[in-house]
Amino acid sequence: MKGTVHQFGGGRYLVRLESGRYVRASLRGKLKKGSRDDPTKVVVGDLVGLARNAATWVIESVTARRTVLVRRGRAGRLGKLIAANVDQALAVVSVREPSPSFDVADRLLVLAEACRLRPILVVNKIDLAQGMEIAKRYGRLYRRVGYGVFPVSARTGAGIDELSAAMAGSLSTLIGPSGTGKSSILNSIDPKLARRTGPVSAVGRGMHTTVRSRLLPLPRGGLVADTPGFADIKVWSMVPEELARCFPELGRAGAMCRFRNCAHVSEPGCAVRKAVADESIAGTRYRNYLAAREEALEARSRRGPEVKPPAILIGRS
Ligand code: GDP
Ligand code: ZN
Repeated sequence: MKGTVHQFGGGRYLVRLESGRYVRASLRGKLKKGSRDDPTKVVVGDLVGLARNAATWVIESVTARRTVLVRRGRAGRLGKLIAANVDQALAVVSVREPSPSFDVADRLLVLAEACRLRPILVVNKIDLAQGMEIAKRYGRLYRRVGYGVFPVSARTGAGIDELSAAMAGSLSTLIGPSGTGKSSILNSIDPKLARRTGPVSAVGRGMHTTVRSRLLPLPRGGLVADTPGFADIKVWSMVPEELARCFPELGRAGAMCRFRNCAHVSEPGCAVRKAVADESIAGTRYRNYLAAREEALEARSRRGPEVKPPAILIGRS
């Protein structure tokens, strides 16, 4: 029997079976030990194999994870794993408070790309003055890259249906600076989401006091990972050579560079710099690529080569 872990708390897991039924399960002894790389054993989003032992369910195996969200540990190290197999990241920026910034948007989008999550850009607070104009500026820049851009207002509900439709069928997470309206957006999609009362609370009774993170079902299908402290993220362990892939339009143009390992900085015959010169690639995107590259190179020289896969880090704030 296979299922997906939706909640964890008090040593018990709430698992949704393929049939749609929710069951409570415990871990098979050997899974409890975990490993040094992966001390959290089983987390929300994990696809698990279960066995039934009389009236109780036991998690016997965990399928290899496609993606991971990890809590930031001390001194920038990887901390606890908190969610697995998230499909897409909603990068949330706002029209005002905090003010809009292509730099912040690029950081969020690159981070999602690095973690192999599908990025979607959400521009919130379009009800505020100049809101639509600012959202249109984002739309022009990022739709050209190939990203979905959703102008919304959590306050008026504008654009929320379209966003819900884009979340249907996937496991999403919301990332972005605090104050951009991530909780308000969830609340606007479904007030139950912001109140953190999942529809399965009857099955999960007694779990809610200790629930650390959970997957919440969305009204139009799909799930959102509700994780404590999901507000603040930090770029960590970016591999400089992987960065061009995280700017998809640079990656595409880069296929035509004279040198296969072109870093698009000052090499002759660079198709990326040519595309920037003729404005088929936006200057802000290229400048942010160079800035991210500098940061990644500097971080590598401080830390030495990275071995761990990139992960979206959930801040402690
Ligand atoms: P979070 O930190 O990203 O979860 O942001 P919150 O959801 O807590 O929202 C931060 C502030 O922005 C709150 O004061 C909200 O009332 C406000 N806010 C959120 N969405 C909107 C919106 O669509 N329009 C306006 N005008 N304010 C919003
Ligand atoms: Zn190049």
